Amino acid sequence: MRKKIIAGNWKMHKTQAEALEFLSVLKLNLANTTEKADIVLCVPFTLLSLLSKSLHGGNIHLGAQNIHWANEGAFTGEISGSMLVDLNANYVIVGHSERRQYFGETDKIVNEKVIAAQYHKIKPILCVGETKKQRDAGEVEKVIVKQLEQSLVNVDQGNLVIAYEPIWAIGTGETCNVLEANRIIGIIREQVTNKGITIQYGGSVTPKNISEIMTQPNIDGVLVGGASLNPLSFSEIINY
Ligand code: 13P
Repeated sequence: MRKKIIAGNWKMHKTQAEALEFLSVLKLNLANTTEKADIVLCVPFTLLSLLSKSLHGGNIHLGAQNIHWANEGAFTGEISGSMLVDLNANYVIVGHSERRQYFGETDKIVNEKVIAAQYHKIKPILCVGETKKQRDAGEVEKVIVKQLEQSLVNVDQGNLVIAYEPIWAIGTGETCNVLEANRIIGIIREQVTNKGITIQYGGSVTPKNISEIMTQPNIDGVLVGGASLNPLSFSEIINY
């Protein structure tokens, strides 16, 4: 059985007070349920320390949203894998389309970051996905296969999560058709050598569409942006 993971990506949201408030409401709403999936919260660096204390001993795992490829050095403003380990981060999102788009991350950089995370025993959540233009041009498979080939060079597939996030579905309310998401995730699984990898779907996941997404045989969980910011909607997603 492949492990199911429901992860929230808070992106650049929440102060410490807001994060604590979120957590107290979330915990209340999860209290009497057995989760069907592992829960991960990928939060800004500034919240890792605080949340690692609040989550201690619970069943919610902590993740970061970025990592530098080097262990230390003259990289002003960056955060290394050993710093993330220091703050008890177990997961890190790598290659999110927003990092590729706004911060110039290439597949080569993404590959180095995946390797850095694994070196520190942090599980990378590697994001892949196509733009609307690429989809309209019929290039989805080509784009995804290239992203995977280049990001997975020398990567240990035993310690990896992949998230299929079609860029046109992120933050738009336009969820990818579930059968299509299931098909693309099937293609991703054909590309990897470890068939037991958890492969998530991400892009406008909400309490409304979560059950349909989770019934798809190839989809092992979700990476949730906007709907993970509200503890009530995120708890509904977890309790799908
Ligand atoms: P939304 O759920 O807001 O579409 O964001 C998805 C995402 O980018 C998760 O990493």
